[in-house]
Amino acid sequence: MSFRFLPQGTVALLNVAIDDYTCADPKRQVGLSAGAALGYHLSMSDETGGELTRECLTEDCGKTLGLEALAAKLKGKPDFEPSEHYCKGAGKYCSDDDFCVQLVAHAHLPSRFGDFELYGFYDAREDKEHTAMVHGDVRGGRGVPVRLHSECHTGDVLGSLRCDCRDQLEAALRYTGAQERGAVIYLRQEGRGIGLLNKIKAYRLQELGLDTVEANVYLGFPGEARDYKVAAKILGLLGIESVRLLTNNPDKLEKLLAEGMEVEGRIPIVIPPIPENEGYLATKRDRMGHLI
Ligand SMILES: [Zn+2]
Repeated sequence: MSFRFLPQGTVALLNVAIDDYTCADPKRQVGLSAGAALGYHLSMSDETGGELTRECLTEDCGKTLGLEALAAKLKGKPDFEPSEHYCKGAGKYCSDDDFCVQLVAHAHLPSRFGDFELYGFYDAREDKEHTAMVHGDVRGGRGVPVRLHSECHTGDVLGSLRCDCRDQLEAALRYTGAQERGAVIYLRQEGRGIGLLNKIKAYRLQELGLDTVEANVYLGFPGEARDYKVAAKILGLLGIESVRLLTNNPDKLEKLLAEGMEVEGRIPIVIPPIPENEGYLATKRDRMGHLI
């Protein structure tokens, strides 16, 4: 058996890309484990392609602390039990809407937009994970600036210019991060609630001449399939009593009001249009009543 040594930095860099890579030639199998970055050897099989092994380079890295020792190492108490797992699976956990969304965990999240506390929620009915970026103390707050942002994978993550979602998300995070307090709730309801793959179909239909509302209707969805029941529940779990919504969409105010949340007003988000999204923004203004 032979071992190949790599400088630690190299291993750390390679670690993610070729984690558990297996060569097509069984005689030259190379195993890289996640532990490599922590100080493990790269291990390599001998000519017979024997089992992969790894060894520890430092004294500490092979040590695994027991649960009691780990608990003793904590500097405070987390507000969840490690053994308490939220329920997976739509419809299994509850039939009651109120009971479906629960706060699972929170942690500090410094970001390029300011200092936030990140809260994680689980909606068992829909089997979805939602988050809230909270700046300052919002508990018991009235007129708290809040953005309810519906996930847009193409815009928020991939930087699509077909819509202004990412600009709105960044503007909202920047705004709330600079206020005394505020929150951005990130709701996992992609593509106005129709899902990512249907949204790509809708984009294709738009290339063929339909507008965003017509494309949704053509696919058998309402022009607007988003639901703010979960958002209202999350605001309640955060202890926010009333909000001022960061939005250009008056329909969102109405829908949140209908879910029993007090809405004190609206804070407009002004994003100048670009040639790629002019048509989309015009449809939002003319067909959906957005105030832009
Ligand atoms: Zn978008």
